[in-house]
Amino acid sequence: MSLIIDRLAIIGVGLIGGSLARALREAGAVKKVVGIGRSRTNLEEALSLGICDEITQDATTGVRDAQMVFISVPVCSIPAVVAEISPFLSPGCIVTDGGSVKTEIVLECEALMPPGCYFVGGHPIAGTEHSGASASFATLYRGKRCILTPTEHTNADSLDLVSRVWSLTGANVCCMEPGHHDRIFAEISHLPHAIAYTLVHAVGTADVEGENVLSYTAGGFRDFTRIASSDPVMWRDISLMNREALLASIDGFTTSLAELRRRIDRGDSAGLTEFFTTAKKFRDGIL
Ligand code: NAP
Repeated sequence: MSLIIDRLAIIGVGLIGGSLARALREAGAVKKVVGIGRSRTNLEEALSLGICDEITQDATTGVRDAQMVFISVPVCSIPAVVAEISPFLSPGCIVTDGGSVKTEIVLECEALMPPGCYFVGGHPIAGTEHSGASASFATLYRGKRCILTPTEHTNADSLDLVSRVWSLTGANVCCMEPGHHDRIFAEISHLPHAIAYTLVHAVGTADVEGENVLSYTAGGFRDFTRIASSDPVMWRDISLMNREALLASIDGFTTSLAELRRRIDRGDSAGLTEFFTTAKKFRDGIL
């Protein structure tokens, strides 16, 4: 049976929320999309691009009569947004999100649901370094993974519906415990972003005889640091909300970097070959 959502409210019509709306429209799975956000400019852009049918800066009226609310604002704002809308949700409404950190969001948002409304945590594993409604596109999720993070409190029918919604975007849906999700993504996403930002910060402030060394960078530096062009507020929030797991990942990385430094310092040719060969094998095996 085909799935049709009569009224979908998207809070934060940027890359992630806008792309979900576009994909569901293309799949013919949604009748009306209400775009909710802070700035009029981004919402008007979303309206003119045909991502939304209606726009409002007032979340409490925007979610009225919605069957599903998708929240895609920076992670530290998600619980506050849910607290704001929760008294205005219609009975049976499913609230879900696309935030990159899950433990705190799931715990807080589940507790904020009024009786008869359900929260399902989610995280699509797709993105770019660009932001806003104009950066969104319908095929963003095609062939990508989308992780849902149910708990013992998750309503089974709501989980099933959210899973079907993501499948309609072309994503491959799987489920994971929120804490497990946060530890994995600290390693494979949050740490790489932290390193990319740190690298550009270090090189940008490096002083080599008064030269602006960044002007000499080429393809390799550009490839490696593309993600340091991502939205700073989004990465501030992710770093703060997944602090414990990210600190553990940074410590692991610091240990590896110290080991590499030791081998360079000692002129340990065999040790360096072994270090780089092991890393190359991991890299070539996964990409
Ligand atoms: P984005 O393009 O910047 O979109 C976020 C939108 O939310 C903006 O349009 C912003 O518009 C609006 N917004 C910000 N704070 C708000 C608030 N308090 N209330 C209402 N609207 C608000 O960011 P994104 O890349 O779509 O990321 C959104 C979420 O998806 C984040 O939680 C992020 O962790 C997650 N995520 C991102 C990626 C990625 O690669 N980008 C991948 C997976 C998951 P205004 O400034 O006009 O309000």
